[in-house]
Amino acid sequence: MTTAQREQLAGLIARERETYEREHPRSRELHSEARGSLLGGVPMSWMAMWVGGFPLYQQRAHGSTIVDVDGNEYADFCLGDTGAMAGHSPAPTMRAIGQIEGITTMLPTEDAAWVGAELARRFGLPYWQFALTATDANRWMIRMCRHVTGRPRIAVFNWCYHGSVDESFVVLDEQGLARARAGLVGPPLDPTETTRVAEFNELGSLERALEDEDVACLLMEPALTNIGIVLPEPGYMDSVRELCTQYGTLLIIDETHTLSTGPGGCTAAWGLEPDAVTLGKSIGGGVPIGTYGVTSELAERIAAQADADYEDTGGVGGTLAGNALSLAATRATLGEVLTDSAFARMIALRERFVDGVEAVIAEHRVPWTIVSLGARCEYRFTPERPRTGAESAAADDPELEEYLHLYLMNRGVLITPFHNMALMCPATTEEQVDRHTEVFGAAVAELAA
Ligand code: PMP
Repeated sequence: MTTAQREQLAGLIARERETYEREHPRSRELHSEARGSLLGGVPMSWMAMWVGGFPLYQQRAHGSTIVDVDGNEYADFCLGDTGAMAGHSPAPTMRAIGQIEGITTMLPTEDAAWVGAELARRFGLPYWQFALTATDANRWMIRMCRHVTGRPRIAVFNWCYHGSVDESFVVLDEQGLARARAGLVGPPLDPTETTRVAEFNELGSLERALEDEDVACLLMEPALTNIGIVLPEPGYMDSVRELCTQYGTLLIIDETHTLSTGPGGCTAAWGLEPDAVTLGKSIGGGVPIGTYGVTSELAERIAAQADADYEDTGGVGGTLAGNALSLAATRATLGEVLTDSAFARMIALRERFVDGVEAVIAEHRVPWTIVSLGARCEYRFTPERPRTGAESAAADDPELEEYLHLYLMNRGVLITPFHNMALMCPATTEEQVDRHTEVFGAAVAELAA
């Protein structure tokens, strides 16, 4: 963008900020009150990342719609950054929650085995356990992999995100060397000591990460989704599997976001063969749950570790993990909400969304692109689809993002605050998708004017 265009953009952002302030007086009031009791004025630091200077306060959320405390209504394509992929307050999940008799007892319920069998059916891995978050599922799986392989390190991809997992906060610098992510809070030690970093879609880079045979596991998303969406090139995932096998590294596929691809995530849709799958966020319909599943072979290796204390204080476990509430909610959500037919609908809506965005991009000749993964998609400020995490990171444009997010929010459309992700849920409507197209088109038209 030219300096003049940047100045124009700054003017538009200032105008949109004023509108935002004017139309959300109650949210602003509640936020300033909360500053007296909440660290940083928010219940969770991420909530400070919404544009506009203060977050919207939620009044209620049903299906694909959120209403804020000022009575404004939003078509919600953020969906709790995937936590609400089943839609907000889905009726079967709410019913199951209402019928619960005893939330957490440290005893199993029938629902747990039902959910395990359903995940086995969907992902093709036979054995499952539960955590409360995807972060914990990843943390515990990494520990198990280190224990069974006797290897100290893990590997991840450049610009990955897998939750607040200590080992994962590493990126490659311009020389291709691993370094801790900027702003990393209180790492126990420099994560470059625990972790090798490879560039996504670059096989040589992955081979260099694994060839010393000291890497217990590769933790990866089958498509990067936390730095825009970066899809694997044809055959890449097969080669990743082969390299992991060749160097004795266990392959953990994190399907937390990529579940958007279909009922069994990319693992089922693309016929992947991981040693373990982790996921969380959406499967409980918004009720906290994380899960990890393993192959029979890995299950046997875990069981054979007589020196590993899985039952007590060996480092894998959480008091509330596997609780009755999480599993009842997950059974209802998987059984009745995030079904095969729901995915088919969500994916068709995402196609409509992408068609709309592509038409706007073409009409105004902006050098942007949109990448899809099942029910989710994301626009990126670069004319070509990024091939690697580094390429995608280079396309970041915080000002453009702020403008688009504010413009959309001021006109009743929400997308994910950290990036430009839009996700469809079973309740999303064609009208909501078209509303996005219309407002996105107007935002781009003002920019291009
Ligand atoms: N894995 C992936 C791929 C994620 O994107 C995230 C969160 N965005 C997580 C794990 C962690 O999820 P949570 O914060 O719910 O633990």
